[in-house]
Amino acid sequence: MTDVIKNARAAEETGNPEFSNKIISGKAVSARIRAEVRKEAAGFELKSGRKPALAVIIAGDDPASRIYVRNKKNACEEVGFTSLEFALPADVSEDELLSLVRRLNADANVDGILVQLPLPRGLDEKKIINEISPDKDVDCFHPVNVGKLSIGEPGFLPCTPAGIMELIAATGTSVRGKNCLVIGRSNIVGKPVSALLLAADGTVTTAHSKTVNLKEIARNADILVAAVGRAKMIDASYIKPGAVVIDVGMNRDENGKLCGDCDFDSVYPVCGAITPVPGGVGPMTITMLLKNTLYAAESIFEKNAGR
Ligand code: NDP
Repeated sequence: MTDVIKNARAAEETGNPEFSNKIISGKAVSARIRAEVRKEAAGFELKSGRKPALAVIIAGDDPASRIYVRNKKNACEEVGFTSLEFALPADVSEDELLSLVRRLNADANVDGILVQLPLPRGLDEKKIINEISPDKDVDCFHPVNVGKLSIGEPGFLPCTPAGIMELIAATGTSVRGKNCLVIGRSNIVGKPVSALLLAADGTVTTAHSKTVNLKEIARNADILVAAVGRAKMIDASYIKPGAVVIDVGMNRDENGKLCGDCDFDSVYPVCGAITPVPGGVGPMTITMLLKNTLYAAESIFEKNAGR
């Protein structure tokens, strides 16, 4: 019996809300971390005289982006942060956007800056992200922060990948020495989660659309992270018995229902732990953004205090 299954059994017995019946609850893990952030934010306010503050810039009226921005605002309020929203028209010029970012970089009352992607066509996302001060880059997209992650220097952790690490930890599974497979190599999920698993001493393989023998590699994985964006692509035939499976995918199935990259009904009996979709990775991303904003506030405060 693998450790994971032992842990699952133990969790069932203790009624652990974060991991029970092989299901890792992103909602429960997220609730615990948000409670910790709320407490620390109150401590920050006591010593600094102000709340941690996140500025979110949104350009255009993409409905999905509007929902994401609203969720971020609500989450900030929930943990006692100041939330600032800068809604710009779709035809905003690059210069205007860049000067807003520079203004927020210089604003001592702003700790984190986030530019909601995708930006309307014609705006150079890379140029705008690179303009954000690395000290306020709470999405961890700036090349300086990506570089720090890669060489193991302390700093921001990318939100979705950091959330994935918390979910693995919630199962009681140690990454050290484990065969880890990440399917997907995007800059926002696949590559950074591979870096975090490696930093946690996993033996990491990063697969992508050109990978040969994916199933064979997957069957050897103790920890499998699926970040592909293909509905139900991963079934039981990819899974090593007892493996921890993290499903990052957010797709629509043939009936328009939200589903992951894993075929949950097929994978569940074989794996040792799995994240549901929805309710798994999804809730973690904004939670880790809150953590990064608090980290930014603390770091900037310490820096200004000359410590
Ligand atoms: P991308 O489209 O940027 O990357 C997908 C990756 O999957 C690519 O590296 C691609 O390979 C690889 N891939 C595609 N087809 C295959 C295949 N048949 N076999 C192996 N690899 C394949 O997606 P993202 O990383 O941005 O997102 C992945 C999924 O995660 C999406 O469903 C997205 O909605 C979801 N997501 C969820 C978040 C959350 O908070 N829950 C946050 C972010 C994303 P190649 O590089 O060769 O093209």
